[in-house]
Amino acid sequence: MTEELFLEDAYLKEFEARVVRLDGREVVLDKTGFYPGGGGQPADKGILGIGPVSANVVDVRREGGSIVHVLDAAIPGTVQRLKGKLEWGRRYAHMRYHTALHALSGVIWRNFGARVTGGQMREERARMDFSFPEEWTSDIVEEIERLTNKALAEGRRVRVYWLPREEALENPDLVRTQVNLVPERVKAVRIVEIEGIDTQADGGAHVANTQEVGALKITNHKSKGRQNKRVEFVLVQRVESTVA
Ligand SMILES: [Zn+2]
Repeated sequence: MTEELFLEDAYLKEFEARVVRLDGREVVLDKTGFYPGGGGQPADKGILGIGPVSANVVDVRREGGSIVHVLDAAIPGTVQRLKGKLEWGRRYAHMRYHTALHALSGVIWRNFGARVTGGQMREERARMDFSFPEEWTSDIVEEIERLTNKALAEGRRVRVYWLPREEALENPDLVRTQVNLVPERVKAVRIVEIEGIDTQADGGAHVANTQEVGALKITNHKSKGRQNKRVEFVLVQRVESTVA
């Protein structure tokens, strides 16, 4: 089992850990700050090393209860401890986009009753798909952008906490995001709540306050069938309105 440090502290950029398994270019540690990918958020990149030994982490994946770091070069089998350093600009961008996606999802649910069906974030863009049976007009998309940016600008706290599985299954906010799909062996569900906007069972990394996200600009929207609609967006720095 790898202890997943990113679940408790998304802002952890560096850590030191014990080598549990070292197999050429693949390393398992007793704990890690590297996110293995999942829920639309890509795996982290960065560096693992100690003293003169160093290699780039080019991929990270989950394997049962372990997290496997894939390196670009083999590390000597005698190494017992490693220091990890995340490629922070990339990870922080994923955190901002991830929180933006949740805010968008909450706004679309609260105002239009539409459920999210999928999402994907990158360092410089993101997209979200949802089930929206009505006509997908520019007016609606602009309204979604406006309402999401209003919510983000309000500086809402993003809280991360754990709920017993039974309690999570009874929470109506969580039911809409299909918390029932969480495997039964999971006894405590990790919750990410943007106060007053959105609550989801989620294993990803988020910023602590919506002000860190900035503002989103929807760059494209398309209808992918009668039900399925998509928006694509980029994040921009929020421009303060000069109008009182
Ligand atoms: Zn998420």
